[in-house]
Amino acid sequence: MKSKGEQRTDTRSQIIGGGVVGLSIAHRLSQQSPSSSSVLIERHSSLGTETSSRNSEVIHAGIYYGRDTLKTRLCLRGRQLLYEFCERHGVPHRRTGKWIVAQNDAQRRELERLHAHCADIGVPVRWVPEREVRGGGEGASSVTAETLVNAAGLGGVAVYNMVVPAALRKRLYFAKGNYFSYSASRPRVSRLVYPAPNPGAAGLGTHLTLDMGGRIRFGPDIEWVDSPDNLAVGRERLEQAVHEIKLYLPGVDETCLEPDYAGIRPKLSYKGAGQAGKNFNDFVVRMEDGYHGWVNCLGIESPGLTSSLAIGERVGELFYGRKVS
Ligand SMILES: Cc1cc2nc3c(=O)[nH]c(=O)nc-3n(C[C@H](O)[C@H](O)[C@H](O)COP(=O)(O)OP(=O)(O)OC[C@H]3O[C@@H](n4cnc5c(N)ncnc54)[C@H](O)[C@@H]3O)c2cc1C
Repeated sequence: MKSKGEQRTDTRSQIIGGGVVGLSIAHRLSQQSPSSSSVLIERHSSLGTETSSRNSEVIHAGIYYGRDTLKTRLCLRGRQLLYEFCERHGVPHRRTGKWIVAQNDAQRRELERLHAHCADIGVPVRWVPEREVRGGGEGASSVTAETLVNAAGLGGVAVYNMVVPAALRKRLYFAKGNYFSYSASRPRVSRLVYPAPNPGAAGLGTHLTLDMGGRIRFGPDIEWVDSPDNLAVGRERLEQAVHEIKLYLPGVDETCLEPDYAGIRPKLSYKGAGQAGKNFNDFVVRMEDGYHGWVNCLGIESPGLTSSLAIGERVGELFYGRKVS
């Protein structure tokens, strides 16, 4: 944030938050202005220990949000940047593709709407016949800076509220997503499997994801909690999850499902929707009016991992007004 008068600053940029978003921003700012220094401030002793390591690990296609939303734009761009980054740096990843499953006429109509939206935003999709589906088996010190980026994830609104007057303060809501491990070898699947979208829902539904070793995991569900530290997965969540999974994967063996880990979505409104529909919560990535040099990244829920490099690119544009390749 702009320093008073001609006072010398210790560094050009300060970035608060060492998750994927803060790291991507630091990476981009150092690329755009290699001669200026950046300081990244993280409250834990290691990087990426909060939401960035508690998610579905899916590189999203960006198909669930409105055409002109930041979520769509940053996800499509971020996806391309992320694949390039992974290939250039040898980061293990897999392009599995995914199936989105409709079980009734209303869900079929929702998939038709999604199909048209995908054509509109240029994401390749195809209808899969049922027979193909069935065959597939952390000292106190101070640093001054000219610019400040708030990428503090679940702590982002608290950082924002430290600076703005009381009338502008925001509240953050926490939508926990619980995951369940799966120890059976059947059904055999090689793709991600998602339920049909439920417009206005806080998440994408309890879906099936595969880790790099091909192990199946289900989640995340949606549980509204009061604290971002509430990360235990209660067994009582299992029954509802089984019900939701069986809707699109009747062959799941529920005796092989166990509570696993959880992540928390930072929501800018209560019951805020993660996908297109009523009460949709878009990403906020903006230079703050009246505070030259202060950028806030708020409400960076899914697809924040996929979008992270594009968020870094956008913050670079906000400061320097141009892209670098
Ligand atoms: C259940 C779930 C599933 C998801 N699945 C996917 C997915 O499949 N694909 C996808 O693209 N995205 C997914 N996401 C979204 C993605 O995980 C997040 O958008 C992304 O990790 C956010 O990164 P971040 O850097 O903003 O936040 P974080 O990773 O939370 O990093 C913020 C950092 O700021 C630090 N911090 C906070 N306050 C302060 C402070 N006052 N001082 C110093 N440091 C501070 C924290 O310690 C933390 O390390 C999912 C999210 C959830 C919750």
